[in-house]
Amino acid sequence: MDFGDFERLNFRLPGPTPLPPAVREAMRRPMIHHRGSLLKRFYTDLLAKLREIHRTEHDVLVWPGSGSAGWEAAIVNLLSPGDAVLATVIGDFGDRWAKAATRLGLDVRRLDRPWGEAVNVNQLTEALANNPDVKAVFLTHNETSTAVTNPLRELAEVVRAHGALVLVDAVSSAAALPLEMDAWELDVVISGSQKAWMCPPGLVIAAFGPRCWDAYEASRYPRFFWDIKSARDMASQGMTPTTPPLTSLYALDAATDLILGEGLEDVWARHAHLGRKTREGVGDLGFSLLADPAHASDSVTAVHVPEGFTSRRIIDHMVERHGVLMQGGQGPMVEAVFRIGHMGHCDDEAIDDVLAGLAAARDELGLPTASRAAVGAA
Ligand SMILES: *Cc1c(COP(=O)(O)O)cnc(C)c1O
Repeated sequence: MDFGDFERLNFRLPGPTPLPPAVREAMRRPMIHHRGSLLKRFYTDLLAKLREIHRTEHDVLVWPGSGSAGWEAAIVNLLSPGDAVLATVIGDFGDRWAKAATRLGLDVRRLDRPWGEAVNVNQLTEALANNPDVKAVFLTHNETSTAVTNPLRELAEVVRAHGALVLVDAVSSAAALPLEMDAWELDVVISGSQKAWMCPPGLVIAAFGPRCWDAYEASRYPRFFWDIKSARDMASQGMTPTTPPLTSLYALDAATDLILGEGLEDVWARHAHLGRKTREGVGDLGFSLLADPAHASDSVTAVHVPEGFTSRRIIDHMVERHGVLMQGGQGPMVEAVFRIGHMGHCDDEAIDDVLAGLAAARDELGLPTASRAAVGAA
């Protein structure tokens, strides 16, 4: 098999994302004793860096798993079967989280918004007024399937006022978009290594705030692997309850050094710049975007596929002719949009290359795109 093709691609999926050289290099480190002093120093230092990036003084824990495992970890530690929760759903990931909760026996109330839109404060306030018994609210910070960012800080405030727990899926926002766990009083923030963390898939990173521990004591779910108390107890000694995924942790260690070396707020600013540049660039080429412009994501962009085409056709052409790998939509939008990832290891040059490829593809495929002025007028 020739993986070299992928070495040469401008790899612009919204996860997994490209690995910086320092992250790849870190994965060459040797195995170490998982109960030894080196591991304890290494893991203690890694957790401190993760707290800094989450802007929290509370607990950040890491397990092997993909991002979705974080949904389950939050549920089985903080809730009980039959509890009412409010799942806000603005796209495919929010929908999956709601379905996971139903599968685990929660009484799931939903606040659905049309795909491309965010949840607003009034809608959430009304939903909570209609569902006074909900114990937790699920918020997707950045809905990767539609490239929409929810106004998390404002929404969390509404949930806090109601007294429910704020559970946040930050899988495609942590380490990319402004996120202040303590200042915004978020109870749980989950993410996955393969998005803006610039690491291979394989780790779920989850932060738990101070209110979680009473909820933990009250929770009646059985749990073993995802138990946050045993993970916290071991973390306080610089260890994990089960064998740690060492190579993945080496990658995360190098990535957190890159993030903190660049400066967290500079990382956020770079994403804001790349998001704006991508949206303006595709807009200037005459494409239209799925996201409400007021809530467009700075970590991924979703572009409407022009009438008479499929995302598959455009994506195949872009990879074969221009060496740019993009992704289609999710769920019912698989063929209706294509998505450009710009989270994590991404710069101006990578986006210029995507835009040049799209400009050529527009002419080569005869894509019937309107000018931006015409789209605005329609
Ligand atoms: C990628 C992603 C997930 C988790 O996906 P996994 O395949 O389980 O890692 C969850 N939520 C959002 C918003 C995502 O972007």
